[in-house]
Amino acid sequence: MKCIAVTNEKGGVAKTTTAVNLGAALAEMGHRVLLIDMDAQANLTLAVGADPQQIHATILDIILDNVLSTEEILKPTGIERLHLLGSNSGLNLAERLLPRQSGYETLLQKKLPFIGAKFEYVILDCPPFLGAMMSNALAVAEIALIPTQAEFFSIYALKNILALIRRIREQHNPSLAYRLLLTMFDQRNRIHRTLYQYLHEHFADGLLETVIPTDTRLRESAIAGVPVLHHAPKSRAALQYRALAQEIIHYVQETLAQPA
Ligand code: ADP
Ligand code: MG
Repeated sequence: MKCIAVTNEKGGVAKTTTAVNLGAALAEMGHRVLLIDMDAQANLTLAVGADPQQIHATILDIILDNVLSTEEILKPTGIERLHLLGSNSGLNLAERLLPRQSGYETLLQKKLPFIGAKFEYVILDCPPFLGAMMSNALAVAEIALIPTQAEFFSIYALKNILALIRRIREQHNPSLAYRLLLTMFDQRNRIHRTLYQYLHEHFADGLLETVIPTDTRLRESAIAGVPVLHHAPKSRAALQYRALAQEIIHYVQETLAQPA
């Protein structure tokens, strides 16, 4: 099982869109995937057509040992091989409850092997702040996948999440890697091209080759409650999310498979 935390301190940068569509692409390629919604806003839950009001246990209940059997709370999404652990507004309590526990940043690290055992990929969709949920996600993930827009303020904002990643590496997860993913990219926009070049020079391997174009099909698919791969399978966004899945699979096979 490999765990990917989709993370960024900024909201609206396509974290949830990336979580659901990367998940759908990996599932389409034959992998068993678990999507975990770690955000009280439950956007990932909605994005696969589930109703947050029908979600009776969340990742917080698992972390706090409020549920005994994980089997009953992992829901099929209607898409083959793609499962969901949904969220609801109860997750708002996480930022108050978790820091009261000792060693609270590694609580998920201890639980994920059990929840994720039957899956090849577990994808965590983080909330947009550097809190307890995000540090728990980073402490357990193999890869922090950071969607970012090719805009100056977005790139400036990366320094906070990168600093958190450095701290989590030192304290809890030495092998945590990160990858930047440019989203809402417009090839015709000169600033976008310039910033891509800048990131390429400054982050080298840290920048994914795949970029996700601006594509209104993504907004439509969110409203429809299905991944864009199913809503508009031939759209540019769908093609690029498949390319992203290939790039991630390649990384997992080439890098993570090597003995340390
Ligand atoms: P986050 O989870 O980081 O807050 P979302 O995934 O919810 O971000 O995306 C924010 C909004 O932008 C949503 O309405 C989503 O449909 C839209 N969006 C995401 N990616 C793209 C894209 N490549 N092109 C156009 N719209 C996008
Ligand atoms: Mg989101």
